Amino acid sequence: MCSLLKEFQASYLREPHVASLENVCSFHMWMIAKTADAETAGALYLRFLDRGAKHGLVSDACDVCAHIRREEAARVKEFADLLERPETLKWLREQGALCVPHARELLAHAPEQLQSDVLLALNKRGAELRKKLVHLVREAQGRRPVHGGVLGRVAEYLVAQRGLGLRS
Ligand SMILES: [Zn+2]
Ligand SMILES: [Zn+2]
Repeated sequence: MCSLLKEFQASYLREPHVASLENVCSFHMWMIAKTADAETAGALYLRFLDRGAKHGLVSDACDVCAHIRREEAARVKEFADLLERPETLKWLREQGALCVPHARELLAHAPEQLQSDVLLALNKRGAELRKKLVHLVREAQGRRPVHGGVLGRVAEYLVAQRGLGLRS
């Protein structure tokens, strides 16, 4: 997932507002099982089970996706405000994997004197991964042993770029 909302989603899913959740998409259903505490997830699933027994689980809408969507604009703005700090740019260069729409928005909100630094930082990680990937492909073609870890990092990067993939 896009780095911009990953942490926000993770912290929400550790303690979801169970009472306000009526519909949850498959992705977030699994995430809640994985990350929420047993009491919280248990109470939610119990409600869904009982409702499912009565009405069936029909809706594909997701209240978690909707919650994240509502925060989106505020998060982009908040992150843009942090760009003046050197550690923010450093994080972006080394860890950042923003989806294309959020990268664009972030650039639009970035202070003018930082625009080119932000653009560089946004592209840095992809460029580095590309270099490693080209090397890996060459080694593999030469039948030399390769470290598959790069593939996992590239996959993670590509998934992040795809953005949120949220339901409305
Ligand atoms: Zn969802
Ligand atoms: Zn994004």
